[in-house]
Amino acid sequence: MLGICKACGAVNRINANTALEKKPICGKCKVEVQLHDLTQEVDTEGFYKVLRNAKGPVVVDFWASWCGPCKVYGPVFQATSREYPNKVQFLKINTEEEQQLAANFGIRGIPATLIFENGKVKDSISGALNSDQLKQWINKSL
Ligand SMILES: [Zn+2]
Repeated sequence: MLGICKACGAVNRINANTALEKKPICGKCKVEVQLHDLTQEVDTEGFYKVLRNAKGPVVVDFWASWCGPCKVYGPVFQATSREYPNKVQFLKINTEEEQQLAANFGIRGIPATLIFENGKVKDSISGALNSDQLKQWINKSL
């Protein structure tokens, strides 16, 4: 999987299997690459870096801190990322901070989950899903 370094912006290739046990370190600046399970919170720049470099599907949760259902869904999304190590990239985007990006993808209600393949939106689903619903939805695109 890919891990964007928040300190220097480097795109790191990370082995998801070891990342769960040992905190990944940026190959360039040696700062910890922050992951939550196998989910990474990215800004617009980080999002496009992952999209350009990802070999497989990229699943993105668009959320906001004021959104109640997002708080329920966030941990579900994060935990589900552990089930697709090195296979699917899981990202979270804070729509309060990245408003233009959310607008570009026509995000109206949150949480909204989008799946990208080869840099393009393949499918989207709105609302807070449970883990089984999320997995079923992702599996349709694999
Ligand atoms: Zn770095």
